[in-house]
Amino acid sequence: MAGSPSTEARGPRVGVLALQGDFREHLAVLTALGAEAVPVRRPDELASVSGLVIPGGESTVMDKLSRTFGMAEPLRAAVDGGLPVYGTCAGLIMLADHVVDGTPGQRTIGGLDVSVRRNAFGGQTDSFETDLDVPVIGGPPVHAVFIRAPVVDRVGALATAVGVLDDGRVVAVEQGSLLGTSFHPEVTADYRFHARFLDKARAFSSR
Ligand code: GLN
Repeated sequence: MAGSPSTEARGPRVGVLALQGDFREHLAVLTALGAEAVPVRRPDELASVSGLVIPGGESTVMDKLSRTFGMAEPLRAAVDGGLPVYGTCAGLIMLADHVVDGTPGQRTIGGLDVSVRRNAFGGQTDSFETDLDVPVIGGPPVHAVFIRAPVVDRVGALATAVGVLDDGRVVAVEQGSLLGTSFHPEVTADYRFHARFLDKARAFSSR
């Protein structure tokens, strides 16, 4: 029967930037949510998707590889063209317009009107977990896993803080088609951020 789950096409087709970092985990989450999820390393692969996840990893390395692979400009053009992009941790850094405590010459794709501070949780709290209220995704608090994570130091007029720690530090932001979290939902069983990203990708593919 038309529209029944058995005849519905998988979708949307979305990519995970696979230059470096934990892209495999994101591919698995997106596939589990019913998307057609593919690794993206080249401009032609980027052109074939209706949304992109930028994984956690190391933003300085991702920056260098994106330039080496000729991906830096296509990525920025895709963001400017309204492609839904979800960045986690290093991916959030890649989406930020400004980086604090970056390495000399570190660049980002940009698009999110925020300043992000790299490795903002030093020493004992380098990596930690906490429960975080995120009203926009609904339901119970998110179990947020932070691994050498950045924080959002400044939220510009175009962006909205959607997740804030008890001490006021911003760790999740949204701006139209863009979504960024300091933490890693792909290492938990809570896929609400990925589902929100897929909603944006679906809207983008049917525009
Ligand atoms: N500290 C890393 C960076 O600066 C981010 C860590 C992560 O993605 N888990 O890119």
